[in-house]
Amino acid sequence: MSKQELDNTGPTTNTAQPWRAYEQVMEGESVVTDLASELRRHTGVQEPRDPDQLVSLAIVGAETTEALARQLEAEWTLYTPQQVGVVASALCAQIDAASTGLERLRDVLAVIEQRGETTGTGAARELLLAAADGTRAAKVNDRQLIETLNALPYLGVLPTNAHETIAAVADLLGHAVTLNATHHIEDPERLADRFDEGLGCGCQIKLTDVYGEAWSFHRGDSVWALYRESDGKPTGDGGVVFTNWTELETPDATAHPAHLVAQIRQNIAF
Ligand SMILES: [Zn+2]
Repeated sequence: MSKQELDNTGPTTNTAQPWRAYEQVMEGESVVTDLASELRRHTGVQEPRDPDQLVSLAIVGAETTEALARQLEAEWTLYTPQQVGVVASALCAQIDAASTGLERLRDVLAVIEQRGETTGTGAARELLLAAADGTRAAKVNDRQLIETLNALPYLGVLPTNAHETIAAVADLLGHAVTLNATHHIEDPERLADRFDEGLGCGCQIKLTDVYGEAWSFHRGDSVWALYRESDGKPTGDGGVVFTNWTELETPDATAHPAHLVAQIRQNIAF
């Protein structure tokens, strides 16, 4: 299912946890990145852990949420109200898990005291319980919050493949650029295979910066990239090869076209 279809329908299953529903709907589109997969490999382990592993898991969890909060400051962090709903849902799940964790820490402390390995834990256990109650109270209306977010319309049009993306970028850039809209491959199935491999469709945007340098923008190996024509080395058979290029921060083949335009303008003036 395409991102656009998802945005129009919203998660359809398990409304209590839309972040899980989002993952199910986006199956096959690598919604969980390599970095997150590696982290998940550790969080999915069920066996008892030693204290060092648990402490590091807690630290990484806090760092992840702090990083999320930091990155939400950026204009292009999320594209749709439904993505906002998924992230809000995931944050509510974290609050829920955090309050359960704080409660269980109170029990852990009591067990340590029962072993005779500490004493006088009463005040600390009361504070842990108060912290657990406080965090739980913060998520009283999470269901209403998430349903309200998911019900908001998405009125934009997001691309569904790399060709639609580059065509929309060219449209936004207007007469300042030329779209060389010639696919190397026209067969829809072979083109879909290229998209699956992270490649583009063969279309290129040609533009000239304010210094007169000619540039090409197109999709390479799982990235969007800018190539300065003067960096190209002739291969002798009429082709040109590049050894350096500028990759945009956003690798998504179906990134918001205006997001890509903003990054192109960050890299070159034209
Ligand atoms: Zn194309």
